[in-house]
Amino acid sequence: MKQTLNIQRRHGWKATAAALATSLMLASCQTVQTTQAGAVGIDRKQTMAVSAASMEQSANKQYGQLMAEAEKKGKLNADTAQYARVKGIADKLIRQTTAFRPDALNWKWEVNVLSAPEVNAWCMPGGKIAVYSGLIDKLKITDDELAAVMGHEIAHALREHSRERASEQAVAGIGITILATVAGVGQIGQKGMEYAYQGLLGLPNSRAHETEADRMGVELAARAGYDPRAAISLWQKMGEAGGSEPPKFMSTHPPRADRVRDLTAYSERVMPLYQQAKLK
Ligand SMILES: [Zn+2]
Repeated sequence: MKQTLNIQRRHGWKATAAALATSLMLASCQTVQTTQAGAVGIDRKQTMAVSAASMEQSANKQYGQLMAEAEKKGKLNADTAQYARVKGIADKLIRQTTAFRPDALNWKWEVNVLSAPEVNAWCMPGGKIAVYSGLIDKLKITDDELAAVMGHEIAHALREHSRERASEQAVAGIGITILATVAGVGQIGQKGMEYAYQGLLGLPNSRAHETEADRMGVELAARAGYDPRAAISLWQKMGEAGGSEPPKFMSTHPPRADRVRDLTAYSERVMPLYQQAKLK
């Protein structure tokens, strides 16, 4: 007992600081529901410590820079027919995002095709889409498969998976960062942006995020009138592409053993939506 008291006295300030940090951290972490469940029933709640605004700010900046760079090199939407094809499919998918979150229609969506050999595509927070010509050419991709890959990427954005990852990193960084965030210290802007930046691209998605994006992706495609079963052939092609050097896409979207089984089940589930969309 005496020993405990001594320890408490000696480490009292640390314990108090830790308790304070924890309570502030809890206050700063928000539990949110980014999307409605849809037909595929995604209802996992998410914990966020980084604001949506800081993610979007980072995304806008990074996207703007990347696109300006590509334009300077003549690699932005260089093939007009290819661009029209991608844009047409993206627009149809974007119209269906209301099934998951009505506010997404107000996002400042952008769609661009980059002339680059990489098999890659992504959608940054707030709806900034890039499709690499390598994805289209190397996979000899069909419209339904393009809808599958873009549907998957759009789903990551709707679910704010990048923000969730950036939040995990921010929380793991703890201590001064979190305290400063909560205290609203100006400097945190910098650090917070860094976490947001890291979370935007380049990190592998977790298994849970991949599953959600797969399931929501097939629903978006089906609602937009694209055969949701194309997601299966897309991932098979993706797995076969590149031989010993797997596509860049595979490093940020780690393959899962049960993907084909899950996609088969969920594309079946959304087939009625596809059939309805085809009638329109
Ligand atoms: Zn993914």
